[in-house]
Amino acid sequence: MSWFTRKKKNINKNPKKDLPSDLWIKCPNCGEILYKPELEANNFICHHCNFHFPITSELYQNIILDEKTESLFSGITSIDTLGFKANKSYEEILEIVPNNKEAVDCFLGEVEKNKIVLCIMNFKFIGGSMGSAVGEKISKSINLASEKNCPIIILCQSGGARMQEGALSLMQLSKISTHLAKFSKKGGLYISILTYPTTGGVTASFGMQADVTIAEPKALIGFAGQRVIKQTTSQELPDHFQTSEFLKEKGFIDFVVDRNNLKNSISKVLDVLT
Ligand SMILES: [Zn+2]
Repeated sequence: MSWFTRKKKNINKNPKKDLPSDLWIKCPNCGEILYKPELEANNFICHHCNFHFPITSELYQNIILDEKTESLFSGITSIDTLGFKANKSYEEILEIVPNNKEAVDCFLGEVEKNKIVLCIMNFKFIGGSMGSAVGEKISKSINLASEKNCPIIILCQSGGARMQEGALSLMQLSKISTHLAKFSKKGGLYISILTYPTTGGVTASFGMQADVTIAEPKALIGFAGQRVIKQTTSQELPDHFQTSEFLKEKGFIDFVVDRNNLKNSISKVLDVLT
């Protein structure tokens, strides 16, 4: 049997060919392997299933706004008021993110020459969670829109409240809602754009309080997670539950709009309502 003995050691019988991660990415919705440069050219929309990948606020800024923009309230950042400690302290988490970054970026700009204030949430910053700085930046943006007599647009992309800020985070729900109510009373126009994912306290407050609610296709939008709802109600959930299309069918959303048509649709809404 000596002819059958392996002479070389450490021979890998099933060599796995790793895809270079900078060139290929798997679609979480349909499982197709996508060529990144092609995906990027299509504003990160899967050409197989139309799933809209979460993208950065910089990209949304380019997609929605005309060229001239002014960044707002970038000096407002989170602090660890409660001295939160778990596996990692809140202070440590805040230290590893770049300076002046927050879970929302605010801008004064124009959409097809219509002046607007735009807030874009950023899921990459602690899950787009809503802390005190997020509440303050959005509230100030609403007030600025009121002063400038222009509409406000909030693009939501969030896991909900920020647990590291406890009740302070929950207070932001009522704080933002109060500012929106005052803005609405003065006749201001508020448009919300719900993207993948919009969940928790953001859905339960300003996400669903707009005069016009737009959502990107196949976005996950809901309050509690599906497993929690199933366990609590002991009911089977319908197909496409907590998706943009399901919520539009039930009347919670006005339009489901492709990211590539987002600017055009916002512009049409502004032309009609302002
Ligand atoms: Zn896909």
